[in-house]
Amino acid sequence: MKVIVYDTKPYDRLYLDAENEKHGFDIKYMESKLTPDTAKLASGYDVVCAFVNDDIGAAAIDALSSAGVKAVAMRCAGYNNVDMRYAYDKLRIVRVPKYSPYAVAEHAMALLLTLNRRTHRAAFRTREANFSLNGLLGFDLYGKTVGIIGTGLIGRVFADICRGFGMRLLAYDLYPAVDAGLEYVTLDALLQASDVISLHCPLTPDTRHMINAGSIEKMKHGVILINTSRGALVDTPALVQGLKTGQIGGAGLDVYEEEAEFFFEDLSDQVIQDDQLMRLLSFNNVIVTSHQAFFTHEALKKIAEVTFDNICQIRDDAFLSNEICYRCDKNPETCPKAKGKNCF
Ligand code: NAD
Repeated sequence: MKVIVYDTKPYDRLYLDAENEKHGFDIKYMESKLTPDTAKLASGYDVVCAFVNDDIGAAAIDALSSAGVKAVAMRCAGYNNVDMRYAYDKLRIVRVPKYSPYAVAEHAMALLLTLNRRTHRAAFRTREANFSLNGLLGFDLYGKTVGIIGTGLIGRVFADICRGFGMRLLAYDLYPAVDAGLEYVTLDALLQASDVISLHCPLTPDTRHMINAGSIEKMKHGVILINTSRGALVDTPALVQGLKTGQIGGAGLDVYEEEAEFFFEDLSDQVIQDDQLMRLLSFNNVIVTSHQAFFTHEALKKIAEVTFDNICQIRDDAFLSNEICYRCDKNPETCPKAKGKNCF
């Protein structure tokens, strides 16, 4: 099996190499992202391993299929960057559905605590011997209402963390979890009643820009918004407007709609051309992290393990337990996976 891994950094290689010692696959690491152009470099490889900001649209899928690639092993949970419908019957798509929901949920709480208690600002001040507290006033999380949108693996761990802080929990999900012990309400009710809103649903055509001018208007004045899910859940100009009026009291963003061009790279010696991103960075009540919520030792280890398990299943022409296709979740009656068969 020959595997080409796109969009890698030294830390990715460390964990993938350690795991590959068990398997001995022939691996080529690429620094560049997967695009229709770089897809041609996959010629001669059986499996492509891709990440969150790779472009696996129709053109790249065509290029990969013509290059003889059999499967794309996503080393992440989300797959909004794959044209699933176009990939059907051309490329198998496998992913790592869960690795550490704790990593992402804990990062969401880190963003919330930092924003609320202004520790990012305090740390800079004290380094310069500025010991003033002006502008650093926060509020008790205890007794406040947190609205959790999407109560899958990560949303539920985040709910548990918030419970530990003594917060009141409200939840919204298309498919409420009966065993989660959560109070499910309509999206509007959640928006209206929450002091903190945290997004944990996937990016789909339905959820794109679910946080927009209309939904922001319904929120409590001064609400804190946390997004560790996908950037395009939020309409950025509407968020900027909400921050300017104070309707949004703080935003913790681990993801950004146009992040692919910037995140994971050191661009500190360049002039950033994205005015929306620069406007967000100019607010003292906004924290942007560079899609790092997943970035813990435990998560990287698990991602490497499951990615290689997935690749072994592809090599063995076995049942691909982590395969996904555009039909998944549509109809369990006709879904081949529900009967222990591959998607096609
Ligand atoms: P999950 O599949 O376990 O849970 C997602 C939940 O969202 C499900 O309960 C689902 O029913 C719900 N949902 C789907 N459509 C919805 C809609 N229209 N409205 C409300 N709820 C809806 O996924 P997860 O593992 O909890 O991950 C959640 C998201 O977190 C992923 O889709 C991914 O985008 C993001 N993520 C980010 C990072 C990071 O490093 N920042 C890492 C991993 C995952």
